[in-house]
Amino acid sequence: MGAFDWFWKAMGAQSGRNQKRSRAIVDAAGDRASELGALDDAELAGRARQLTASGEVRDPAAFLAVLAAASKRTLGLEPFPVQSQAVLRLLEGDVIQMATGEGKTLVGAMAATGFALGGRRVHVVTVNDYLAARDAEWMRPLVEFFGLTVASVTEKLTPGERREAYAADVIYGPVNEIGFDVLRDQQITSREQAVQAPADVALVDEADSVLVDEALVPLVLAGSQPGVEATGQITDIVRHLRENEHYTIDDDRRNAFLTEAGAKRVEQALGIGSLYDDGHIGTTLVKVNLALHARALLIRDIHYLVVDGKVQLIDASRGRVADLQRWPDGLQAAVEAKEGLDVTEGGRILDTITLQALMGRYPMVCGMTGTAVEATDQLRQFYGLQVSVIDRNKELRRFDEADRIFATAEEKNRAIVAEIAALHATGQPVLVGTHDVAESEMLAEALEELGIEVNVLNAKNDAEEARIIAEAGDLGRVTVSTQMAGRGTDIRLGGADESDHGEVVELGGLAVIGTSRHRSSRLDNQLRGRAGRQGDPGLSLFFVSLEDDVVAAGGAGEQITAQPDADGRIDSKRVADFIGHCQRVTEGQLLEIHAQSWKYNQLLADQRVIIDERRAKLLDTGQAWGELAERAPERAEELSGLPREVLERAAREIMLFHLDDSWAEHLAHMDDVRESIHLRAIARETPIDEYHRIAVREFRDLAQRAVDDAVATFRTVPIDAEGAHLEDQGLSRPSATWTYMVSDNPLAGSGNSVISGLGNLFR
Ligand code: ADP
Repeated sequence: MGAFDWFWKAMGAQSGRNQKRSRAIVDAAGDRASELGALDDAELAGRARQLTASGEVRDPAAFLAVLAAASKRTLGLEPFPVQSQAVLRLLEGDVIQMATGEGKTLVGAMAATGFALGGRRVHVVTVNDYLAARDAEWMRPLVEFFGLTVASVTEKLTPGERREAYAADVIYGPVNEIGFDVLRDQQITSREQAVQAPADVALVDEADSVLVDEALVPLVLAGSQPGVEATGQITDIVRHLRENEHYTIDDDRRNAFLTEAGAKRVEQALGIGSLYDDGHIGTTLVKVNLALHARALLIRDIHYLVVDGKVQLIDASRGRVADLQRWPDGLQAAVEAKEGLDVTEGGRILDTITLQALMGRYPMVCGMTGTAVEATDQLRQFYGLQVSVIDRNKELRRFDEADRIFATAEEKNRAIVAEIAALHATGQPVLVGTHDVAESEMLAEALEELGIEVNVLNAKNDAEEARIIAEAGDLGRVTVSTQMAGRGTDIRLGGADESDHGEVVELGGLAVIGTSRHRSSRLDNQLRGRAGRQGDPGLSLFFVSLEDDVVAAGGAGEQITAQPDADGRIDSKRVADFIGHCQRVTEGQLLEIHAQSWKYNQLLADQRVIIDERRAKLLDTGQAWGELAERAPERAEELSGLPREVLERAAREIMLFHLDDSWAEHLAHMDDVRESIHLRAIARETPIDEYHRIAVREFRDLAQRAVDDAVATFRTVPIDAEGAHLEDQGLSRPSATWTYMVSDNPLAGSGNSVISGLGNLFR
């Protein structure tokens, strides 16, 4: 951390008063430990209850000592002082920075136990199913020691099992499952159908990924709806367009635009007037644009795979394909058409929520990650969170080599292969971080040609990722992995059982190689952090070429001249500085994109809160019946023979159906507006202002329309002892629902940022 001191101070990370106070408390806790030895388990748990009876921790030192004693008794792990300090910072609501391998799982469980003892329900938010289930089981004895309950939520659980899990005191769950449950709970028509119970605290693992990188990723709930119009003709037309003549792609490859010539050509081929007429702007133009995105920006095997005749998305931020993930329907269909596959049934977006809005629902958010400091600004700006840096338990012994810079990508790749082969020849384990699946495969092939056995970890075999990454520290092992694959899994030297630990230490520990710098230094550091855990030696080394994405995107076409040696290597401080500069530029660009998207999202997020409140009122009170009876007294009179309870339920279903329907419509409409505003960007008015104006106006109409439609339905729909027969009027809710996330992680490297451009189309 030392080298970053100036930086995190400048960024306002918590280094001063709070930290000193925490350290003093941890020291005091250490002194108290011996008194506790005499207590039996029940007495120890009782002591914890006393200390938290008021809901707050009364004597933090005594409380930490109790937690430590319980951890030792139940898990056989005696927390290091730095871990206790981290627990304290979490309990005060900070995001803590703790390096890989320092034991964040235990820290998180102790803090969650602390919150739960104070009567607060905690969601421990993990990055995937596997970690949610693993951590909940691993930490179960500690949590249960205090008479608390713990559960995990994973994709395969039924609604009944989810409901049971969410009733626990401490719940481990991946962020997308938790979010999908929020969305599904927004579709219920009576309280008993809800699966989630309100939670008070979100304790977020890998907090920078979830809270910053993926903050604007929308989680989507869609219902199936037959009949997507054929996109075949448009696909054919778009296939023949030429880059730069008919369309252009912006510098960061996030968006493709038709040129005037391109628009002409499409108009002629379709035999229509202007694509930009009001009659086409929300329809034909959107389809043409989807086809263009599919054609120009989405590359098979980088952005998606075709498996068994189906398109599967690669979630580059997690480096994997996820089940039940698909693009918004128009795009899914456009890609399917491009690949000549059957176009699948379409759907309708019922509701969406961004991770940022999801986190906003918790009264308290805290988190942990290996790389928080570089995200200090965003964490403060978007969530009002402070960062606390926790020292390592043992000093870092990893050596971070200076970048090796090459003139061309080809020379760089040759050097990467040679370096891996040289390290491997000594027996030192090597972990290589690539940017996408295609690069992983290419590299693996080159290494295999040299007779080096390689474990490739990528989006095609996510089932095994945890096991493979756990073995990455084995003697002589070479592992090639996309950036985020296997995050959260500990890499021990000399195998999971550490049998060859000494030997691998002798060889210098794990060597981590980055095949190019990321668009943010934080992502570089995530990769470096894989080596050098708990005082182990290790090496990190990045290769860079002047043809890399980050140089193209951050260098703004600036030419840098340098004299390469015979191998193409450039050893020049000036060039190294230039590359650092490019990365800072791309970091700035990403922040700007984030801030822009945030503005578009915020208004809808605020409107969503209003819808939530309205929904809750309709669900929990008899208000729906009251409103309908007032607006249509003659119908209420007709129904007066039915029991009040039946009437209230029927009214509730009618009102909720139309509220949800109008909201879905609103979302779809605002997507179109955003898209056409973006396309029309002729800057008469700033697009965001115009967007806001329309959103506010439409939302006002929405509220009115939802009630008017409900009154109309109430007047005509059959209502009897079984309730309202909405299905008789074709008003049933979709029976099957999809959930997916629209990957929008511009920080995850070039490949993914292309997909994220679609955020503009669909949010
Ligand atoms: P992180 O998530 O911070 O990378 P983990 O929670 O996966 O780290 O823990 C890394 C390893 O350290 C685990 O195998 C765990 O058993 C071990 N560990 C954690 N805390 C302690 C402790 N206090 N004493 C001994 N081993 C510990």
